Amino acid sequence: MAESFLPGEAALGARRAIDHISGVTDAVQTLLAYKGAAIAVWLLLLFVLERALPSAPRPGSDGAWGWRRLARNGGLWLANIGLSPLVVLPISIWASQHALAWRPGWWSGWPGTLIDLLILDFLIYWWHRANHVFPLLWRFHEIHHLDRFLDTTSAVRFHFGEVVLSALARAGAILLLGIPIESILVFEVLVLTGALFHHSNLRLPPKVERTLARIVITPSIHWVHHHAVRADTDSNYGTFFSFWDPLFGSRSRTSRTAEMPIGVEGLGERPFPALLVRPFLVRR
Ligand SMILES: [Zn+2]
Repeated sequence: MAESFLPGEAALGARRAIDHISGVTDAVQTLLAYKGAAIAVWLLLLFVLERALPSAPRPGSDGAWGWRRLARNGGLWLANIGLSPLVVLPISIWASQHALAWRPGWWSGWPGTLIDLLILDFLIYWWHRANHVFPLLWRFHEIHHLDRFLDTTSAVRFHFGEVVLSALARAGAILLLGIPIESILVFEVLVLTGALFHHSNLRLPPKVERTLARIVITPSIHWVHHHAVRADTDSNYGTFFSFWDPLFGSRSRTSRTAEMPIGVEGLGERPFPALLVRPFLVRR
């Protein structure tokens, strides 16, 4: 699901932006700095590995499948990088500072963070599900699904409208549950690390992938969510932990194959400007 993504310089920009918001601790500043660096290294590593050890054959390396696709996904990502320090982070920080303070004393420290991570992943599962059910949300989320192939770059391909809507939904949860900003930032790192991994085209030894899939969402699980068959698109909503789908009856029985068509059933990819305006167009 749509998460703010802040590598390198953008993370520094974010630090500068939140310097102006009072009450931000040194721990948060440090987390932000490390978050950007850790995610950038992880993205680079997977980007190289999925090209050295691909699972599905790449449809082609030029034109619509090659650099143009990278430019589309990269363009959507850049818009989000710009938006994060200006809109997404301030919304989350503001929500944390105005949250209801009803949490008992034992809900703190690392066990408290662990509970927060479980709750946030549970909520993002339902938020993702809502994005597939409600037409207004799907208008924005569809842009992520229109990608006709998957790799690490798909994990940062989100319409800025979805990023803002997600930030507002998360702010609501933070306000009601009193989740500290430290937990939010740890969760963002977790979600981004997981999303880069489960969108990637990295071929893993089947035994390793099966073991990992018991706990976290792996490429085999998430590629089925991008299968251009509506019943599969509307399943496998999990973002980090893999147990919500079986628990709430949304795990697809389809197994991933190397040839499975990726995208939205009956729809093709669009050029970058069309992707930007598509959610706002009147449809008949
Ligand atoms: Zn989806």
